[in-house]
Amino acid sequence: MQKIRIGIVGYGNLGRGVELAIGNNPDMELVAVFSRRSLPGTKSGVPVLSIKDAAAYKEKIDVMLLCGGSATDLIEQGPLIASLFNTVDSFDTHAKINDYFASMNKIAGISGTVATISVGWDPGLFSLNRLLASSVLPNGTNHTFWGKGVSQGHSDAIRRIAGVKDAKQYTVPKEQVIASLRAGESLDVSSNTAHTRECYVVAKPGADLDAITKEIKTMPHYFEGYETHVTFISEEELQAEHAGYPHGGFVFRTGSTSPNTNHVMEFALKLDSNPEFTSSVLVAYARATFRLAQKGSTGAFTVFDIPFGWLLPKSGEELRATML
Ligand code: NAP
Repeated sequence: MQKIRIGIVGYGNLGRGVELAIGNNPDMELVAVFSRRSLPGTKSGVPVLSIKDAAAYKEKIDVMLLCGGSATDLIEQGPLIASLFNTVDSFDTHAKINDYFASMNKIAGISGTVATISVGWDPGLFSLNRLLASSVLPNGTNHTFWGKGVSQGHSDAIRRIAGVKDAKQYTVPKEQVIASLRAGESLDVSSNTAHTRECYVVAKPGADLDAITKEIKTMPHYFEGYETHVTFISEEELQAEHAGYPHGGFVFRTGSTSPNTNHVMEFALKLDSNPEFTSSVLVAYARATFRLAQKGSTGAFTVFDIPFGWLLPKSGEELRATML
């Protein structure tokens, strides 16, 4: 059987994660990595080329996995690459997903390609579970909690404060809020009432620790309004105990089907590495994207539009025999 030929655009955490994930999926092969930077090489040894040379690979790559950042990279690179290749990306700016879908749908429709957007865990697997639970329990409420996990954006924001050498920020869901919701209590929950923010900070020598703490806790959009805890630690401690990118969270729906008959549907993730897991989801959807393209589909798709059975390299008969 011919392998699905994959290309990677962008060699950051996600790009390296996809490279790893391809190694776990024998029906796929990695052809090349495309980057805006001039890089010495890749871990797997596949060539790393300029993104400007991607067009030359049009006939050599079946699906391009777009691993750029959502803030600016994908908005620019998505339509550009989708005009030449079938694509999968992890666009996660929830408020802009419909705009991004429209732009990818237009270009993929014109170019005869498939663009699968917003794949990962949120958006992605969490979205599927919100949809599934909402359809099964129409009388109910969805709840989403993130963490315990590292927020790179919040960690970066702390690192920019004067006197801070390094920092890691964890978003932690409040157990008490979760327990109350699971017990069927009706609470007015928002992100800042449902989560705490735990900050581990390495200060520069002689820095004013009280001033740093105050600046963190009052930072608008990031920490203001949250229960925030700041702990100062040494550089060695940060490296030894906070080096990874764990994340996770869960979505659940509480609902009732008749008076006093309540149900909870729950889906949880505990991830040692956010990028490695997200990349594994992208790779599974690359397979489904390849199948969509083979069947003649064009345009943009999300996880809502793709049959589950297309994610595994098995026939319908095999799936019915082993997993139904
Ligand atoms: P990242 O490591 O910052 O990489 C983003 C891009 O920045 C890369 O494609 C790379 O492009 C460039 N880059 C990487 N390292 C660099 C360096 N040292 N110097 C200069 N440029 C560098 O971001 P990431 O962790 O891979 O995450 C990418 C996106 O995934 C995030 O923005 C987020 O939106 C999304 N995400 C989605 C989910 C989900 O569940 N849907 C989950 C996690 C993440 P070049 O190689 O072209 O320079």
